[in-house]
Amino acid sequence: MRKLLFFLLVSLFFVIPAYALDLDGLSTEDIQMTRQIISKLQPVIRERDSEESLATLTFKDLDAPLTKQEKKFLKQFRNLSRKETGIKIPWRGLSTGENDLIAIKGQRVKDKVRVRKEGKLETVIVDRTLPPQYLPLTAYQKYFEMMAAMEKDIGKRLYVDSGYRSSAFQLYLFVYYLRNHGFSVKETVRYVTLPGYSEHGDPGHQAIDFINRDGINGDPHVEEFECLPENLWLQEHAQDFGFVLSYPRDCPDGITYEPWHWRYDPKAAREVAKEKAPKVKTNDRLKGGTCKN
Ligand SMILES: [Zn+2]
Repeated sequence: MRKLLFFLLVSLFFVIPAYALDLDGLSTEDIQMTRQIISKLQPVIRERDSEESLATLTFKDLDAPLTKQEKKFLKQFRNLSRKETGIKIPWRGLSTGENDLIAIKGQRVKDKVRVRKEGKLETVIVDRTLPPQYLPLTAYQKYFEMMAAMEKDIGKRLYVDSGYRSSAFQLYLFVYYLRNHGFSVKETVRYVTLPGYSEHGDPGHQAIDFINRDGINGDPHVEEFECLPENLWLQEHAQDFGFVLSYPRDCPDGITYEPWHWRYDPKAAREVAKEKAPKVKTNDRLKGGTCKN
C-alpha cells in the first residue's frame, strides 16, 4: 500500500505541469507579486543610481531584498526564451558591467512639470540632469565625434538617455514596464527586451537611446522624436560614425518602431552606407545626360 501511494505521488509530480507564467496576461496573483517585487526593488535602483553604480547591478543584488518565493518568481523572466515570447532578435549575452565603461555625467535637458500656482495647475519648463549613463570606450568616442559633427551642421545635439545596462537592470525594467502593457509578457517584449537580448547590454554592439535638449525622447509620442531635425540628421549621417537604427518601422523582428534607439555597429553601418550610395556614379550620370548645365 505504501509503495502504491509513493508511486502515485511520484506520478502526480510528473503529470502536474510546473508553475508557469501566463504570457498573454499574468494572473491576478502574479500581478500582485510583480507589484510587490517592484516596490521592494525601486529603492535599490534609486540608491544604485545615486551611488553611480547601477551599471554593475547583478541578479544577486536584485535578489537581496526578496523572499524565496519572490526570487523564484523573478527568475522565471530570466528563463523565458525568445521562442516562447515570439520575438526574433538574437541572444546578445548576459551583461554584468565588468567591461571598461565610461560615465557620462551632468547631461542637462528640459522637462515639463505641472505645478499649482494660485490654485491653478500650470505647465512650467525646468532643467533636469539625467542620471549618469555609461558607454564602452569606442561607442563613447564615436558618439561624441558624431555629436560634434551634428552640432557643426545644424547647431543641435542629442544626449544619452540610456546607454549601457546590466542584465539585472534590464530584468528590473522588463518587470517594471509590464504594467504599461496590460501585464502581458508577449506585448511587453515588443517594447522592452528580456535580459540577454538587449543591445544596451552588449558592449560589442552598444545601443544608445537618444533624447534632445528639449527632453524629447519619443515617450509617449514616437513621431515627436521621429520628426526632430536631430533625428533627420542621424538618418542621413549616423552610418558614417558606425551607428545604425536597430528597430525601424515594421521591424520583422517583432520589436516596435524605436527611432531613438541606435546601435554602434560599424559592420552593419558599412552595409547601410553601401545601400545608400548612389547606384550610378556621378560621372556616369553626367555621361547619361541627366544633368544639365
Ligand atoms: Zn533602447
